[in-house]
Amino acid sequence: MKLAVIAHDGKKAEMVGFLNKHIDLLNQKNIQIIATGTTGKHAEAAGLKVERLLSGPLGGDAQIAAQVAEKQVDLVIFFRDPLDKHPHEPDVQMLMRVCDVHNVPLATNPATATLMVKGMMSDEE
Ligand code: PGA
Repeated sequence: MKLAVIAHDGKKAEMVGFLNKHIDLLNQKNIQIIATGTTGKHAEAAGLKVERLLSGPLGGDAQIAAQVAEKQVDLVIFFRDPLDKHPHEPDVQMLMRVCDVHNVPLATNPATATLMVKGMMSDEE
């Protein structure tokens, strides 16, 4: 299983905290994590193992969207900052649209991401 994580600048610390909190479960479920460039850098600095793609504004969100479309990504956690502007807003919208097209779970805030993780815990596999 592959999880893609993306966090806008104002949400990166929250993302690292979220991943750290749930890393045992993610490891236990053998979930591979991919991330946009700077989000991935923050996660690595916190000791997490992630595969880093391009930075969001340089096409990282688009790379993740392509993997979603190709069914290579199973879950997306995207902590967006609704109080800031983003030069790559079209890519952000495109990624969310592609998740909906392919019915891939997309959590855009910690509350939803927590429910997603709890859903994994109750998974009987
Ligand atoms: P970043 O990209 O992790 O490279 O900052 C995230 C984004 O803004 O989409």
